[in-house]
Amino acid sequence: MSDNVHLGHRARKRFGQNFLNDPYIIDGIVSAINPLPGENLVEIGPGLGALTEPVAREVDKLSVVELDRDLAERLRHHPELADKLTIYEGDAMKFDFTQLASEENPLRIFGNLPYNVSTPLMFHLFSFAGAVKDMHFMLQKEVVNRLAAGPNSKAYGRLTVMAQYYCKVVPVLEVPPTAFKPAPKVDSAVVRLIPHKELPHPTTSLKWLERVCREGFNQRRKTVRNCYKSLVDAETLESLGIDPSVRPESLTLAQFVALANWMDANHK
Ligand code: SAM
Repeated sequence: MSDNVHLGHRARKRFGQNFLNDPYIIDGIVSAINPLPGENLVEIGPGLGALTEPVAREVDKLSVVELDRDLAERLRHHPELADKLTIYEGDAMKFDFTQLASEENPLRIFGNLPYNVSTPLMFHLFSFAGAVKDMHFMLQKEVVNRLAAGPNSKAYGRLTVMAQYYCKVVPVLEVPPTAFKPAPKVDSAVVRLIPHKELPHPTTSLKWLERVCREGFNQRRKTVRNCYKSLVDAETLESLGIDPSVRPESLTLAQFVALANWMDANHK
């Protein structure tokens, strides 16, 4: 049978469909999630149910968000799952996750994410961090490396700073292409993201934080002084504890936040 057909479904590239097909890896991911009865579990992209089935065995109910109409329809008729699932057919990128959350029961979101949209999808999810207990995602290994990176490395970038602003990042498991059908061209990894109960470095302006990150990482070869020349002088940078002669990629999260907060207070 063609490598693109799995359990009678033809994988759709445009939806980033690579279905998990390795019981050992699936088991590892479900153990990492550790789903318990009564928890507010939400899966993004359940697909053919590779993770949904073993998770649903542990709990009474869970919510899923699936964009592919055919797959959502299959899930509605799935003998084991139909009764336990609340199916939201639509785009997770536009989904308002607060509608599923409550203060007593924060969300536990998981999924083998469509790689073509994983970065914007994570930015969307960060905006709900306050309603989330934890998230477990299968991603391209390179993206997990970016999430977990530290300053002064190639992987350190806007995604790193924004992820670590909201969450503690814990890489969990590496996954080879052979664990999927069809096999993706890249290595994968599972990451656990745990939103901070209290932000360690709160900003007064997310807009400014995003802007200083974007401008910094778009001009990696410049010094901090040159990069933000039109916005802040060297003396002020020093007063914020930032060496004007270093490159933006050597700034810590705390320093990016200090810079953003100064911009917010001085560039209304
Ligand atoms: N969870 C299944 C597994 O592990 O075998 C499928 C994973 S597959 C990599 C990604 C899944 O996300 C597919 O079912 C795909 O249809 C779905 N998907 C793609 N884009 C989506 C979006 N924007 N919102 C919700 N689901 C999406």
